[in-house]
Amino acid sequence: MPTVPASSQTSEGSSARRRVVLLGATGSIGSSALRVIASHRDRLELVGIAARTDWRKLAKIAREFSVPSVAIYDVAAFLEAGQQGAFPEGTRLMQGPAGLAELAALPCADVVLVAVVGTTGLEPALAAIAAGKDLALASKEILVLAGKFVMAEASRRGTRILPVDSEHNAVFQCIEGHSSSSVRRVILTASGGAFRDWPEERLLRATPADALKHPNWSMGPKITVDCATLANKGLELIEAQWLFGLRPEQCAAVIHPQSTVHCLVEFNDGAMLAQLSPPSMTFPIQHALLYPERARSVEPPLDFTQLMSLEFKPIDEGRYPMIRFARESMAAGGVAPAVFNAANEVAVEAFLRGRIPFLAIPKIVGHALDRTANFEPADLAAVLAADGDVRRCATLDVEILK
Ligand code: MG
Repeated sequence: MPTVPASSQTSEGSSARRRVVLLGATGSIGSSALRVIASHRDRLELVGIAARTDWRKLAKIAREFSVPSVAIYDVAAFLEAGQQGAFPEGTRLMQGPAGLAELAALPCADVVLVAVVGTTGLEPALAAIAAGKDLALASKEILVLAGKFVMAEASRRGTRILPVDSEHNAVFQCIEGHSSSSVRRVILTASGGAFRDWPEERLLRATPADALKHPNWSMGPKITVDCATLANKGLELIEAQWLFGLRPEQCAAVIHPQSTVHCLVEFNDGAMLAQLSPPSMTFPIQHALLYPERARSVEPPLDFTQLMSLEFKPIDEGRYPMIRFARESMAAGGVAPAVFNAANEVAVEAFLRGRIPFLAIPKIVGHALDRTANFEPADLAAVLAADGDVRRCATLDVEILK
């Protein structure tokens, strides 16, 4: 269960603004976070922003929100921004992975929202934990890769982890006030992605453009492809295991095409609690940034004066092998979840670049899992080494399957 250390409760109820560092400010989660911050300027203050390359957009945000500290991951983009004098005078500019980590540990920050693609956020997330910041976590790959070490470090430092992924934020809301021993199961909902109504033979010809047409959510390209394969739900099952201290068999998923119910938590007595809100990230982001305060939402809530139906159907693992790989990785433990994640990242990138067909994604991931001898990593370095090995082998698979 998420821990709420006494030290971080002292600011509750105070009128001071919470000072936010936003890593991934130019991405999809970043845009939603900016909407939340803009509409709660009396409660939230943006003190640091980071992005990979888009310095023009960063400069625009820095001006609009008077942000004093900025980090740019990509060296060439950092140099270009400097040459162009893109940022207001007095802005502190940082660069590279070290810059992101420094930003995450800014002495003036209260909460760090990590919303960068893939595992790039691991180092800054650990820096935020070490500096005692609240960590609002949107990048699920961090816990999939290194959940054991990140959660142990957070617990050792008494850092609060606030889930931002919509399903996990929903679970966090439903289990609040309940003991972990009273929870029987957590069920995450999955929209089914862009291809949920496609016949299987048509998947052979699915293009990146097809995969990026998500029926309900507007998100970045990597996660949208992950929704089409259901790898996203697999990663989320593993993420839930770490965030809420669950056993693998306590984490389940169900197809729910409307993306209105974000999770179901089943208790020992058979009662289930669900969390509902429209499919927009502003809801979970606001909950995490203002937690435990519940302020007015940026967007209108669900409207029950309109006809609404909620459907649920079991996941066909024959059609979605990635969910089976994720479940098996989670049950195997060790580095298996990291292998699943790394092979998937390589395969999805290759698919997005048009180098491999859609159905090669599960082939590459399945092959990586078969080939890798699983072991219990002694430290983070061992996980990162396994991650690197898998990426190299998966890259060779891309060459074979293209
Ligand atoms: Mg999600």
